[in-house]
Amino acid sequence: RFPAGFGLRCESTAAASDSGSAASEKYEYQAEVSRLMDLIVNSLYSNKEVFLRELISNASDALDKLRFLSVTQPELLKDAAVDFDIRIQADKDNGIITITDTGIGMTRQELVDCLGTIAQSGTAKFLKALKDSKDSGSDSNLIGQFGVGFYSAFLVSEKVEVSTKSPKSDKQYVWEGEANSSSYSIREETDPEKLIPRGTRLTLYLKNDEKGFAHPERIQKLVKNYSQFVSFPIYTWQEKG
Ligand code: ADP
Ligand code: MG
Repeated sequence: RFPAGFGLRCESTAAASDSGSAASEKYEYQAEVSRLMDLIVNSLYSNKEVFLRELISNASDALDKLRFLSVTQPELLKDAAVDFDIRIQADKDNGIITITDTGIGMTRQELVDCLGTIAQSGTAKFLKALKDSKDSGSDSNLIGQFGVGFYSAFLVSEKVEVSTKSPKSDKQYVWEGEANSSSYSIREETDPEKLIPRGTRLTLYLKNDEKGFAHPERIQKLVKNYSQFVSFPIYTWQEKG
């Protein structure tokens, strides 16, 4: 049995079929995701800092999942002898935050299934509650109540890049989505400087009014609050000025 919190819903059981062109391909979000994105992007929800908790919890889930699977499939670790950890880098001059984990990563198909559709219980409940709520003014409270997972990145970001390498695939892929867009794209990572041995790197390009989140002190303070629930080391550092 998997420990609670594992997002198995979008795990592709098929062997990664990563043939195909390296060029960027465009995809439309599932209608529910579009609706959710709209809501998040335009929400007046004030507790935007929850994005960091959601993304750290995804990183932690990804590490847990790899640790768990590697017990029966030690070959998952063979290509990348790297520690299990989470690294958060804040670049305050450019308003960019990167969150890197050395977890299970995603194949191309998993990127489509995990980040383009919703089957996730929390988010599904959120949408149901939203539908049930006649009072549109309560929308923003619902965000905090149910948590909106990965998409909470768009509470603070203009653009989000997810560069990810699964041990099931020999290629690294980049998912790219923008606030106020009904589509996202996936391409192969070709920049040698951006290749990672394993796991996922999220790059958040913060909205102009949210660039304050890229201050290392602010990140450190938030991380301190969440890290007590995470069983992997979380390192934070800043871009040298
Ligand atoms: P949940 O975590 O509740 O499943 P999220 O919206 O937070 O929902 O994430 C959606 C899915 O995207 C996760 O279930 C997981 O499969 C995938 N995912 C998100 N972040 C990562 C990550 N850092 N590493 C690997 N998979 C991830
Ligand atoms: Mg999550």
